[in-house]
Amino acid sequence: MLGSASKAFFHLLAQSRTLKKLATRVAMRSEPPARLRSWRPRTPASVVHRFVPGETVEDAIRAARVLEAHGLTETFDHLGESVTTLAEAVAATRDYLDVVRAVTQSGVERNISLKLTQLGLDVDRASAVDHLRKILELAEPAGFFVRIDMESSKYTELTLEIFETLWQQGYRQIGVVLQSDLYRSEDDLRRINALGARIRLVKGAYREPKSVAYQKKADVDAAYVRMMNVLLTEGNYPAIATHDPAMVDLTRRWAAEHGVASDRFEFQMLYGIRRDLQVMLVDSGYRVRIYVPFGRDWFPYFMRRLGEHPANVAFVLRGIVSEGR
Ligand SMILES: Cc1cc2nc3c(=O)[nH]c(=O)nc-3n(C[C@H](O)[C@H](O)[C@H](O)COP(=O)(O)OP(=O)(O)OC[C@H]3O[C@@H](n4cnc5c(N)ncnc54)[C@H](O)[C@@H]3O)c2cc1C
Repeated sequence: MLGSASKAFFHLLAQSRTLKKLATRVAMRSEPPARLRSWRPRTPASVVHRFVPGETVEDAIRAARVLEAHGLTETFDHLGESVTTLAEAVAATRDYLDVVRAVTQSGVERNISLKLTQLGLDVDRASAVDHLRKILELAEPAGFFVRIDMESSKYTELTLEIFETLWQQGYRQIGVVLQSDLYRSEDDLRRINALGARIRLVKGAYREPKSVAYQKKADVDAAYVRMMNVLLTEGNYPAIATHDPAMVDLTRRWAAEHGVASDRFEFQMLYGIRRDLQVMLVDSGYRVRIYVPFGRDWFPYFMRRLGEHPANVAFVLRGIVSEGR
């Protein structure tokens, strides 16, 4: 992990509107299909491609086909967050409806992840819920599972409230995310488990104050393990989302010791991260779903990934140097 000062630096960059505008003006170059087919690009044409397979849904579907050929599954995330106008939220909703149609036509697995601020949560709560409902009305009958990603702690209460309301209204192909760095998450876990809803467990990608979140990695990890234990024994098909080999080992061990079969949960990892671990788990008989982000709005997502892991910064610097040759 990077030190918290560097992590904070990358989070600051992620929020910079000027940098985001500049970055997204530089369209990502499309990766040639042959390179994608081999799935292990060593010197990618664009460093962003390592983590984001492209800007279009076709790029994402192409990447998904490669993942599926390797025994993995995927969830599609059309990148975007924190929209500030209703028009942007309506456009993001339209984009997601197009993603649902394209994925349905393609024949790859039907699973999407989305963020409520992308659908306008900061602009108007009722409209954001309407937008989500519109997506669910198209996606659920088509056999999709729709995961509501969790954003910073500012949105936790609201996101869970919206999720639980939709659940009470009968939507069943939806799930949420809980972050082990937040003090509140173990209580949330008990309540949402009691509904029988599907939970994705993560450590938390946002920089949170100590009033709401553990600050030490050891505390975040310990909470992760406690939550993973409850999820595996009491949860409904939980997703253990981590690249941390220690968390993966503890999950495998807990499942084996408590007779939890490998088809009663899945591991989840991000596209391009710890591909060695992804393959090892599939080869060992576990289910692994890869989060496949795509779209023009890749900058904040990309910056958060850099902030998580020093090796990623080195990878990007190496890529930039070799591209400049
Ligand atoms: C499928 C998926 C969905 C997610 N959805 C959300 C969400 O909705 N909300 C949210 O707040 N967060 C989300 N996250 C991000 C998550 O909260 C963490 O920020 C992220 O996964 C890093 O934590 P970690 O458990 O992987 O390991 P860490 O504790 O950060 O690191 C432990 C070890 O894991 C490996 N590792 C971790 N990160 C990287 C990396 N970037 N590159 C290479 N190796 C790495 C390294 O070996 C490292 O030493 C998601 C993560 C995944 C995998």
